[in-house]
Amino acid sequence: MRGCGTDDGCGCESPGLTRFEDALENLLSYAEKVTATVTVPLNQALGKVLAEDQCSVVNVPPNDNSAMDGYGVNVADLVGGDRCQLSISQRVPAGADPQPLKPGTAARIFTGAKIPEGCNAVIKQEDCEALGGVVDLPTAVKDGQNIRLLGQDIEAGAVIMAAGTRLQPHHLGVLASVGIAEVAIYQPLKIAVLSTGDELVEPGDELAPGQIYNSNRYTLTGLVQGLGMELVDLGIVADTAEATEEALLRAASEADVIVSSGGVSVGEEDHIKGAVEKLGSLNLWRMAIKPGKPFAYGNVQGKPFLGLPGNPAAVLVSFNILARPYLLKMQGADEIFPISYRAPIILNRKAQIRKEFMRARMVQEQGQVRIEPYSNQSSGVLSSAVWANGYAIIPANTEINEGLEVEFVSFAEVMS
Ligand code: AMP
Ligand code: MG
Repeated sequence: MRGCGTDDGCGCESPGLTRFEDALENLLSYAEKVTATVTVPLNQALGKVLAEDQCSVVNVPPNDNSAMDGYGVNVADLVGGDRCQLSISQRVPAGADPQPLKPGTAARIFTGAKIPEGCNAVIKQEDCEALGGVVDLPTAVKDGQNIRLLGQDIEAGAVIMAAGTRLQPHHLGVLASVGIAEVAIYQPLKIAVLSTGDELVEPGDELAPGQIYNSNRYTLTGLVQGLGMELVDLGIVADTAEATEEALLRAASEADVIVSSGGVSVGEEDHIKGAVEKLGSLNLWRMAIKPGKPFAYGNVQGKPFLGLPGNPAAVLVSFNILARPYLLKMQGADEIFPISYRAPIILNRKAQIRKEFMRARMVQEQGQVRIEPYSNQSSGVLSSAVWANGYAIIPANTEINEGLEVEFVSFAEVMS
């Protein structure tokens, strides 16, 4: 890992701080993909990661079908002037198996209905006039008009989805469209969430002087569930070595990965470091990022441990930029990073040694997109995230002048 590891006088860009990119690379190098798979019905597969490539055994659509409500004809029968009349020989609603088209006739047909043999075009009903058993039709009709061809969406034998795909609603729709009822997914990771801090009280309880409500628990459990992973919610952990060790041991026995908030500094009231070192091993990184400077990675009895900071906005950011890609890689997902956009930012400031992830709002006005950072970027100010709709990534050691294009990640990209 780059970085000098000292706090003084070395002349490097971020003395004593680990570069974010190095920490992320290092962290991801430890992420071991789960091997266990489980087969689940489609309605339990949302947000899970496919463990096997999926192939279609059918054509979609399975036969030529009508794209319109109208009349099915053979264009060779449309003779005469601008219009001609044909008798209506059958009615073909969606779901019916039609007779071959009688030569010299038309079939009343509806959207999605199977095209009768011998029919090679559908004329939309707005262009036709039916009178009793006869229909008046235009003659300028192209062969194949308004017919959706067999296999135009998916051909039998095609690979429709690769292992590693995180299943979103449209993936489930495509799997259903080829008749797949259940899929093999990687066994969802069980993630233990611990909220450390003697000052914490659960919402619904009275706040005594000096106490605050536990918000990290809800941010973190929501983020974990958004990733389609299983939650082992261990609630509040008191700031003592015993309580911290006990909670970590329970987490290690019940979960695949342990995520904690708070207690990762090195004050007397911070017990994560000592407890994790006692039960496994720990790397404590002071990263050149804002917010989220302290971040711990290690293991407790062999189970990966991610120690997030305590400050609520730092929890949100550090989960999204570090824990999320790590967990998705473990889960077998092929896309572990969000898509980012670039747009001009409304910000002027001097270069800073830490890369900053600013809660910000991407706005569009009169066709112009711009990024507006929230006024208070303190790592304790979580309400900033409600005002914001994503985060802007401000590079380290770079002076920012209004209008400079920076990267922006929408919350929509990382909250699920
Ligand atoms: P710590 O790293 O434990 O010193 O916590 C840093 C800051 O985050 C302190 O102001 C804590 O009170 C606050 N904090 C820690 N955990 C939580 C939590 N679960 N919910 C809200 N704030 C917290
Ligand atoms: Mg604390």
